[in-house]
Amino acid sequence: MSECTHNCSTCSSNCGSREKNSLMEQPHELSSVKHIIGVVSGKGGVGKSIVTSMLAVTMQRLGYKTAILDADITGPSIPKAFGLKKPVEGDDNGMIPPTTTSGIDIMSVNLLLEDESRPVVWRGPVIAGTVKQFWTNTIWHDIDYMFIDCPPGTGDVPLTVFQSIPLDGIVIVSTPQDLVSMIVSKAANMAKMMDIPVYGLIENMSYVKCPDCGKEIKLFGESHIDEVAEKFGFDLLARIPVDPKLTALVDKGWIEIMDNNYLDVAAQIIENRGKSSN
Ligand code: ADP
Repeated sequence: MSECTHNCSTCSSNCGSREKNSLMEQPHELSSVKHIIGVVSGKGGVGKSIVTSMLAVTMQRLGYKTAILDADITGPSIPKAFGLKKPVEGDDNGMIPPTTTSGIDIMSVNLLLEDESRPVVWRGPVIAGTVKQFWTNTIWHDIDYMFIDCPPGTGDVPLTVFQSIPLDGIVIVSTPQDLVSMIVSKAANMAKMMDIPVYGLIENMSYVKCPDCGKEIKLFGESHIDEVAEKFGFDLLARIPVDPKLTALVDKGWIEIMDNNYLDVAAQIIENRGKSSN
């Protein structure tokens, strides 16, 4: 095979680059999104959505215009964390994502349903099509950093996200009791196949801090995240404790007033990566 010119229109080889490029979807013509980061996990309930929300809040506080595309169509929890109830506006020309109090644009299936408690009982291709439309038919106005809350696992819909949206990188969220090494290796392999960089790992529910003595109690036993990060050569972006304040903030829809710095280092790494790719 001749050397890649990165111009598929003048090359006859069927390499991975062509396959990846051919499935990429064009954003809406009025959209402008500088950086896109996918947040992935091996299974549900590990805190992927809360991490996505907190990353968006942290980057917004650094002065960047941020957005969240909630691709977790069957378990959409982003609008709830932000207390967002405004419906999506728009017409045949495109959808306008509602904006949270601090100015984060959000697109989620829950904002399109008349009754958010109704389950989304759709088959895989419909779900994947919806995710694509959130990218192609939404007018994402002047976004510096978009975070995508991917559905858990490495199935059809995460694959659609990886193939059709031009991700700058992914962040992998896991918990200590997860089969971390296996999950990280699956997500990392998928990202590698699509040529997407892994920005690093976030361990959620790492420990509980004793409110009296401040001691860190490892509820789920010793963490192996450092070894896993080293094994794969990834950065450990954060270790987030089980924090009842976080649960309460999400329940009340007040994640934007969180007062922790759990993701400051992660945000700095994302910012540096963003700057170096500008
Ligand atoms: P996922 O998106 O992986 O399914 P969520 O982000 O929806 O998981 O989190 C599942 C539940 O656990 C939510 O109610 C969330 O508020 C809670 N939760 C997640 N991480 C923490 C944490 N570090 N401390 C306290 N509650 C948490």
